[in-house]
Amino acid sequence: MFEWIGFDADDTLWRNEEYYLEVREKLSLILEKYDLGNVDSQQMDELEVENIQYYGYGVMSFVLSLIEQVIQVTNERIHPADILALLNSAKEMLSANVELYDGVHNILKEISTRYSLLLITKGDLFHQQRKIKASGLEDYFQAIEVVSEKDSQTYLDIFDHHQISVKKFLMIGNSLRSDILPILDLGGWAIHLARHVTWSHEDDPGLGVIPSQRYLEVESIDQILNALDQLERKLA
Ligand SMILES: [Mg+2]
Repeated sequence: MFEWIGFDADDTLWRNEEYYLEVREKLSLILEKYDLGNVDSQQMDELEVENIQYYGYGVMSFVLSLIEQVIQVTNERIHPADILALLNSAKEMLSANVELYDGVHNILKEISTRYSLLLITKGDLFHQQRKIKASGLEDYFQAIEVVSEKDSQTYLDIFDHHQISVKKFLMIGNSLRSDILPILDLGGWAIHLARHVTWSHEDDPGLGVIPSQRYLEVESIDQILNALDQLERKLA
């Protein structure tokens, strides 16, 4: 039987990516004033990914990348008022209500009676801590970790810290890159919650998933219990 179940937070338990998409739409409106249509979203993704090494993940990193991008594409003609509008959008993102997906309370209530739960989320520390508090979900979790990157070493450190056996650990999340692949690599188990809105960096189909006995994909939260039971039978 599994001992620990790990949950990702952004786009797994609560909405996240939609807020980023809204601000990108606002950016397009701003750029129309400069006779620039939609900014090349692939180019924007590339800049954001390149900037992770400086800023890490999260809203602050996103908005700094946006500002860098608009300064470049407008050939430094962007008006300070438009930069201020982008900064205000970031503040709105940082203070927005936490919108849980349907079924989150039910699934956590059910699973927490059978397993120890671990929340692992990455991004701006301050923002993540605020969202965790506002979510009202803290009491379901035995442990909560906010990290700057979710790679194999991060997971190993967390497992070490909480004395978790990876062979009896199952991770649930929407990101192949951050939630699924590192865990499968380490010998753990995973359920991929395939959301329609997941940032391309996190869910690039090119990442591929190694066919594994220790892995299932679901499309909604209410399919998780069933998937968990299936994997539980394989573990037994
Ligand atoms: Mg996520």
